Amino acid sequence: MTALEDDVIVVTGASRGLGRAMAERFVEDGARVVLTARDSERLETVAAELPGDSLVVPADVRDSDDVERVIDRTLERFGRLDTLVNNAGVSLLHKDDHDELGDITEDEWDRVLEVNLKGVFLFTRAAVPQLYEQGHGTIINISSGLGRRAIPGAAAYVSSKWGLEGLTRATALESEPYGVTVNGLDPGGRVNTDIWAHLPAAEREEILQPDVMNDAAVLLAAQGPDGVTGESMTAQEWEQRLG
Ligand code: NAP
Repeated sequence: MTALEDDVIVVTGASRGLGRAMAERFVEDGARVVLTARDSERLETVAAELPGDSLVVPADVRDSDDVERVIDRTLERFGRLDTLVNNAGVSLLHKDDHDELGDITEDEWDRVLEVNLKGVFLFTRAAVPQLYEQGHGTIINISSGLGRRAIPGAAAYVSSKWGLEGLTRATALESEPYGVTVNGLDPGGRVNTDIWAHLPAAEREEILQPDVMNDAAVLLAAQGPDGVTGESMTAQEWEQRLG
């Protein structure tokens, strides 16, 4: 029996980067995964390469109808939901010249806050009725070191991830009586994904690689109803805590 045998796991932002890597690992460990993001072609490619059962449901995390559809289709197909990984995220960090507060447009601010924070609220709101009814389940919110500290030139991203840290703790308190755990997980540094596509190849090879959170994500997903809840740590710290 593998760690996640038969579990059903929804991964947002599963079309590339950290989300794709976690989805692949969950399937290797016996789970059935629901892959969601906006780019349906990329999602189908990811699904085709998985060594196990999966379902593709394209969605924009900012759209509540899209989000409800992901959860509805998950339950129609698999009849249960064990883990929700809120991983989809955007930053403005891809620019070489980071925007100071006065240079951030309202549209940029809204996009970062809506994907990174409202999207997590919408997915969590859609998922908890099923998790509560089951009396078990796990929500993993993908945060960042910038959810605990700040740097200049990243105010929208920093604000979204600090907000996510608060949402994680508030959701954990509400979910505890139902046996549902809710935690934050972050890679512990820069990871070689599209966010850093502008960096020179040599530098991209030196930073963390997209599978960096896989072990920690499996440990969190495999926790039972009495597991740790309401905490937020790096992948390495979670491995030390739960491994
Ligand atoms: P990435 O490679 O750019 O992937 C982002 C994912 O989010 C893609 O699958 C993208 O798919 C999806 N996404 C973006 N906007 C969306 C929307 N409106 N609706 C639905 N899906 C959307 O980024 P990553 O580095 O893997 O980041 C994953 C998470 O890790 C993020 O929460 C990020 O903040 C966090 N993180 C990353 C780093 C790092 O250095 N890379 C460090 C700390 C934390 P579509 O474009 O197809 O929608």
